[in-house]
Amino acid sequence: MAVSDHVDLETFIEGVKKRNPGQSEFVQAVQEVAQDVFEFIADKEEYHSAQILRRIAEPDRVVSFRVCWEDDNHNIRVQRGWRVQNNNAIGPYKGGIRFHPSVNESVLKFLAFEQTFKNSLTGLPLGGGKGGSNFNPRGKSDSEVMRFCQSFMTELYRHIGPETDVPAGDIGVGGREIGYMFGQYKRITNRWEGVLTGKALEYGGSQMRPEATGYGAVYFLQNMLKHKDDDVEGKTAVISGSGNVATHAAEQIVQLGGKVLTLSDSGGFINDPDGIDQEKIDWIKHLKNVKRGRISEYVDEFSGATYHEGERPWGVTCDLALPCATQNELNEEEAKSLVSNGVQAVSEGANMPTTLNGVKVFHDAKILYGPGKAANAGGVAVSGLEMSQNAERISWNEERLGDMLTELMQGIHQKCVEYGDDGDGYVDYVKGANIAGFKKVADAMLAFGV
Ligand code: GLU
Repeated sequence: MAVSDHVDLETFIEGVKKRNPGQSEFVQAVQEVAQDVFEFIADKEEYHSAQILRRIAEPDRVVSFRVCWEDDNHNIRVQRGWRVQNNNAIGPYKGGIRFHPSVNESVLKFLAFEQTFKNSLTGLPLGGGKGGSNFNPRGKSDSEVMRFCQSFMTELYRHIGPETDVPAGDIGVGGREIGYMFGQYKRITNRWEGVLTGKALEYGGSQMRPEATGYGAVYFLQNMLKHKDDDVEGKTAVISGSGNVATHAAEQIVQLGGKVLTLSDSGGFINDPDGIDQEKIDWIKHLKNVKRGRISEYVDEFSGATYHEGERPWGVTCDLALPCATQNELNEEEAKSLVSNGVQAVSEGANMPTTLNGVKVFHDAKILYGPGKAANAGGVAVSGLEMSQNAERISWNEERLGDMLTELMQGIHQKCVEYGDDGDGYVDYVKGANIAGFKKVADAMLAFGV
């Protein structure tokens, strides 16, 4: 094969920008990976000539569709839905569905791209995808959500399948929405099959799936600390978000003897210097999942806590920070403030919550920094185990799944150390995750030819 002209990193990024105008989140995600991958493949001609990164950064397919539904006042509403199938070299496309007004093609392309590396890191045979809609479930009635989910699935069903593409939940899509979508898939196709994960236990869901992302992010943190002969016990933690990931991360921090100071939602954050214990976490789960209320209500229930409207929690002094809300929720200034207040470790429960400049601050300060694609991979890993259980028509018990999650997170941490240790004891977890995630997908693609 002729030796191809190698483009340099800058030219590569310029090309990505040019081909994806206005898609800043997608460009950001590709840029973060390309920095490390270019270094890794510098002396590896096979990856260059096969244009592997160029191909991974070009989704296999972007399916875009109209979703019509009727609201409770009999108005016809029109929304856009998407499924981005990024790469299926190592397994069927796999990744969540997000319902949020901020959803657009750029956000879903970045998430599907990240998912490809994350899923590869788990060691399970899972490709990368993501889907969603700009539908806002907040303030909608139960039947409105049901009608939207059914309509969304009426378009989506033809593009997915247990061996093709297996969606799950994400922001705005939890057990309720998965139930409505699974019901519709079954109704249309007359097939009961493991086409979605994150299902309830009664119809093929897995033990530990609701806990997996949040617990996994804390296990990853625990592994990073252990690598430095340290642990979570006695440490204070600042957490953003108050959904499934954040509340389970909080629960695991508490179980390991840490103290959780904050949680948040899009309206602001609460700071409880007494610590958000298990009882308070259970109250928040009920508030969010059943009452669908706002985090500000916490201060009426628990004295001593304060509510900070319109603010994010990163100015609160802590040992550990866990961004568990959404992308780009922690910027350069906030990263500086965390570092100057003495933060020791950051573990990301959300996808790409820290901006590129924020990540640089953490790296320059040499603190432990676990990027989302490694730290929050526990969720999709247990989704992979849900697929295995569905395929075998069995269900494993909680203890077995708990052990498997612990082992999976250890394995992911180990891979990051293998490719990210710079030799003098500092582990660049971003580099480790990027290279380990890339290598498996790239080698599979090389095997297939063009
Ligand atoms: N939405 C989750 C993620 O970002 C889970 C995806 C899945 O379980 O397929 O990884």
